[in-house]
Amino acid sequence: MNNSYINGFKEALKKENLKFTNQRFSILQFLTNNDGHYDCDSIIDYLKKNKIKVSKATAYRTLDLLVKYDFCRKMVLDDGIARYENKLDATHHDHMICIDTGKIIEFMSPEIEKIQDDIAKDKGYKIIKHVHQLFVKKIS
Ligand SMILES: [Zn+2]
Repeated sequence: MNNSYINGFKEALKKENLKFTNQRFSILQFLTNNDGHYDCDSIIDYLKKNKIKVSKATAYRTLDLLVKYDFCRKMVLDDGIARYENKLDATHHDHMICIDTGKIIEFMSPEIEKIQDDIAKDKGYKIIKHVHQLFVKKIS
């Protein structure tokens, strides 16, 4: 993680009147160092194993801040549980979720992106963001 990124995080905390703490920083570190999609509890568990104790309230507040300031992306699946993923250096992609195993598969289709843009444009709009979640089952 480079310095400007860390400074950006400090700035964001300041704007929200939150202190820069090792706990909060370790949440950002965890997400930037690990590819994947993690819910709040598994982030807390991981940190606990590394001797960093973070309360649920702190974790959620920090994750909200990371989403608000574009450090990470939040997605809520059918189970209602929010999962977070790193957004630094991450290119846009959408998600496929296996309904049997919960596995999350990333995909990106320039064709779909273009079709969406065209549809919106057709109706006189431009897309600011979109969320695509495909729920899938392995072909047996
Ligand atoms: Zn993803």
